[in-house]
Amino acid sequence: RPLYDVARIRADFPILATQVRGKPLVYLDNAASSQKPRQVLDAERAVYETGYANVHRGVHYLSEKATQGYEAARETVRAWINAASTNEIVFTRGTTESINLVAHCWGRANLRAGDEILITHLEHHSNIVPWQMIAETTGARLVVAPVDDRGEVDQDAFDRLISSRRVKVMAVAHVSNALGTILPVRRMIEAAHKVGAIAVIDGAQALPHLAVDVQALDADFYAMSSHKAYGPTGFGVLYGKLPLLKAMPPWQGGGDMIETVTFEKTTYAEPPAKFEAGTPHIVGAIGFAAALDYIAGIGVGAIAAHEHDLTAYAHERLCEINRLKIIGEARDKAGVVSFTIDGIHPHDIGTILDQQGVAVRTGHHCTQPLMVRFGVPATARASFGMYNTRDEVDALVDGLRKVVKFMG
Ligand code: PMP
Repeated sequence: RPLYDVARIRADFPILATQVRGKPLVYLDNAASSQKPRQVLDAERAVYETGYANVHRGVHYLSEKATQGYEAARETVRAWINAASTNEIVFTRGTTESINLVAHCWGRANLRAGDEILITHLEHHSNIVPWQMIAETTGARLVVAPVDDRGEVDQDAFDRLISSRRVKVMAVAHVSNALGTILPVRRMIEAAHKVGAIAVIDGAQALPHLAVDVQALDADFYAMSSHKAYGPTGFGVLYGKLPLLKAMPPWQGGGDMIETVTFEKTTYAEPPAKFEAGTPHIVGAIGFAAALDYIAGIGVGAIAAHEHDLTAYAHERLCEINRLKIIGEARDKAGVVSFTIDGIHPHDIGTILDQQGVAVRTGHHCTQPLMVRFGVPATARASFGMYNTRDEVDALVDGLRKVVKFMG
C-alpha cells in the first residue's frame, strides 16, 4: 500500500483525468517530463493576475511583489537541496543550460590541453556534448567510465580512470534517465576531490525522486530542471559552491548581471546575478517553488518508496511478456524501466501502446552511446511519478500483450 493517498494526489493533476485516443490516459513518460498539479498552475496564474511585473528594477508595488516571489523561490530551492547560501542558487533554463554554463564558464577559465574530463557511458547528451565542445576549444580530453551489463558504472574502472591525476572535471548523472540507475555519486565525488578535480552532478532525474543534499554530497555543481519535478518548463537551477561561482567569468552579458557599465569597462555583479543576464523566467521560478512545496507536502521519502514499489512491480509483471528484455537492472534504481521486445521495433511498441492511451517514450533517450553499449537502436521506456499506480502498470502489461499479438 502506498504511503499516501494516490487517488487524492491524482485529483490535483487535471491532465490525468483526460482521455487520449478515447482511452483514459496512462501517463508513464515522467522521465521526459512530469505533469503539473493545480497548485503549480494556480501559483503561476496568481502571479500574472495579481503580482506580475519585472523583477529587481522597480520601486513600485508590483515589481517589489514579483521580486519577493522570485527571491523567495531561490530560498525554497536553497532549503530543498540544503545549499549554504542563496548566492549559490543560479536560475537557468534547465539542466542543459546549467551544464553548458559550467562547461563554458568554469571550463574556459580552468581547462588546458592535456586535462581530462571524466564522464560515464550512461550520460545524457546534455552531459556529453557541452564537455566535447569545451574540450575542442581548450585541448582537454573526454574520458568515459564504462558501464556494466546491469547498467551500473564500473567503479573499479572509474577509480582507475580518475586516479590519472589529469582529471580536472568529473561530470556524472545522479540518476540515469535511460536506465534508472542511481549512481553512487557521494563516493565518486570523494574520489574526484582526492585528485583535485571538481564534481559536476547532472541531477535532472534525481530531483523529483531522491532527497538531494548538496553539502552532504559535497558536489561542486549540481544541475536541475523544474519540468521533471512537477514544475513549469523552461526553468532550472544550477547550484554551485560560492568560491567557484565567484572565481568564474560570467555566462551571458546583459542587464542584471552587472555592477557598473561604461564603454571602457564593465564590472560584474556578485553571484547569482552575475550568471542571470536579462529578464528571467519570473513565473517559472515561482511555479517551481510551488512544485517543491507540493512535493514537500507528500514527502520525497514516501514518493521514492511508492515509485520503488511501482518499479519492482513493473519488473515482475513485464517478465510475463514473451521475448521482453529489460535493459538496465541496477541494484539501486529509480522509477525507470527500459525494455525491448525481440523482433518488434520500440517505435511500434510506443505507437500501439499510444492507441490504448498508454504514454511511454521510445527512442534513444538522448543517450546514443549507451544504446550502442547495449547493442540496441532504441528502447521503450516506462517511467513513474508520484501519481502512478499499480493499475497503470497492469494497463501497460495489457497493452504490451496487444503489441505482441499485433506484431509478434
Ligand atoms: N540529464 C538527464 C539525465 C536528463 O534526463 C535530461 C532530460 N531528459 C537532461 C539532462 C536535460 O534536461 P533539460 O532537457 O530539462 O535541460
